[in-house]
Amino acid sequence: KRVEIGVEQHGIDPNLLDERGVRVVRTLTDAGFEAFIVGGAVRDLLLGRRPKDFDVATNATPEQVKGLFRRAFIIGRRFRIVHVVYGRGREHEVIEVSTFRALLANESAEQVAGNEKTSKEELAGKSHVVDASGRVLRDNVWGPQIEDAARRDFTVNAMYYDPQRQLVVDYHGGLADAKKRVLRMIGDPETRYKEDPVRILRAVRFAAKLGFELEPKTRAPVKACVPLLANVPISRMFDEMIKLLQTGHSLASLEELRKQGMARGVFPILDAVLDERGELPAGPRGDFVRRALEDTDLRVAEGRSVAPSFMLATMLWHEVQGRWAQLRDAGEAPVPALQQAIDQVFDARVGDISGRGKLAADMREIWMMQPRFDRRSGNGPFSLVEQPRYRAGFDFLLLRAEVGEVEMSLVDWWEDFALGSDEERRALLDAAR
Ligand code: ATP
Ligand code: MG
Repeated sequence: KRVEIGVEQHGIDPNLLDERGVRVVRTLTDAGFEAFIVGGAVRDLLLGRRPKDFDVATNATPEQVKGLFRRAFIIGRRFRIVHVVYGRGREHEVIEVSTFRALLANESAEQVAGNEKTSKEELAGKSHVVDASGRVLRDNVWGPQIEDAARRDFTVNAMYYDPQRQLVVDYHGGLADAKKRVLRMIGDPETRYKEDPVRILRAVRFAAKLGFELEPKTRAPVKACVPLLANVPISRMFDEMIKLLQTGHSLASLEELRKQGMARGVFPILDAVLDERGELPAGPRGDFVRRALEDTDLRVAEGRSVAPSFMLATMLWHEVQGRWAQLRDAGEAPVPALQQAIDQVFDARVGDISGRGKLAADMREIWMMQPRFDRRSGNGPFSLVEQPRYRAGFDFLLLRAEVGEVEMSLVDWWEDFALGSDEERRALLDAAR
C-alpha cells in the first residue's frame, strides 16, 4: 500500500539534501517524468544523517535520462543505470539514476504489499536470468514504482523522497522500522537471500553502520544461507568486504560478522587475520590490524580520504612476513623473497580481482618499501622519500613501530630525513652509520 508521508511526520531536514541530487530530480520532473531520491539516502535523511551519496529513481528509461543531461553515461550490465556527472577531478560528484524495475516472474507477489493490481499472471512473461542456485544474473525489465519498491532489500532502503513536495513515499512500513531501528527484509527473507546472497552481507553492514537490529524473521535464515555466498563472484565479494571495512564502522562490522557466525570462512582476507573465535588475536599482530581499522574509522568520521590499499596491506602483512621469512630461510635473497611472498599471499587471499590492478600495485609498493626503511645509507633514502607512495609506506612503518615491530627511533629518523635540507640529510646519514 502506497503511503505518502508529509514533513510533519518524517521531519527530514532540507539542509541535509544535496543540491545536485535535487537538481537531477527537478530536471526529470520538469521533463514530465516521475523522479525521487531513493534508497540509502532517504534512510540516512530520516535518521538525520547527511547521505554520502544520492541515488535517484525514475520512470524514465536510461536513454531518456541520458538525453536530459550534458554529462551522463549509461553503465552496468546486470543493472543498467545512468551516472550523471557534475564537476571535475577531486570535486566531481556522480548522481546515480536508475529506472524503476519490475518484479520478475519468479519473485513472489507477496513482496508487493497489499497491491491487487499486480497479479502473478501479470508478472508472468517477464523474465530474467538465474543460475542453478536461484541467483539473479541479469535483469533490466522496467516497471511501476510499487514493483521497484518491492525489489529492494530492506524496508528502510525502499523509500522514495520527493524533495520538491517534501514527501516520503513508503510501501513497506520503512518509516516505522527506521524509528524502531530494525532491519526487515521485504518479502520472504530466505527467498531473497537465495536470489542474491550478498543481501546477507548487506544485512551485516547496515546493522553495524546504523546500529540496527535484524528483525527475527530476517535473521532466522541467515546462518543456513551463508554457504550461498560461495556462488558470488569474488570481485563482488571483494567490493562488499571493502564496504564493510572502509566506510567508517569496520570494528562494528567485524563484531556483527562474528555475531552472525560469518567472521571466518567467508572472506579469505579475514581468515588471514581473525582467530578461531572470529576475533582479532591478542598481542601485536591483532593490535596492528585493530589500530589500522580504528584509524580508518576515525578518518572516515572526519571526512578524510581512506585508501583500501593501506587497510588491506595491514590485514595481510603478518602473512606476508611469515612467508617472507620462510623464503629467506630457504636461501632466497631478501628482495626477491619479499616479492615471492607477496605473490603467494595475493594468490591465497585475494585471487583474481581484475580491474583492481592499481590497488594491488599500491599494496605491493607499501610492503616493498618496508625493508628499504632499514637501509639508511647511500642514495637509497633520497630516492625512497621521493616515491609517490612514500607517505603510505611511512605511515605503515609508523604503525609497525606502534606495536613494537620496529624501533620508534627509526620512524623519527625518517621523519627528520624527509623534512630535512640536503645538509641535514647528510648529517642524518652520518649519524645512522
Ligand atoms: P549506502 O549508504 O551504503 O550506500 P545504500 O542503501 O544506498 O547504502 P546501495 O548499495 O548504494 O546501498 O544501494 C542503493 C539501494 O539499492 C538500496 O538502498 C536498496 O534499495 C537497493 N539495493 C542495493 N543492493 C540491493 C540488493 N542486493 N538487493 C536489493 N536491493 C538492493
Ligand atoms: Mg548508496
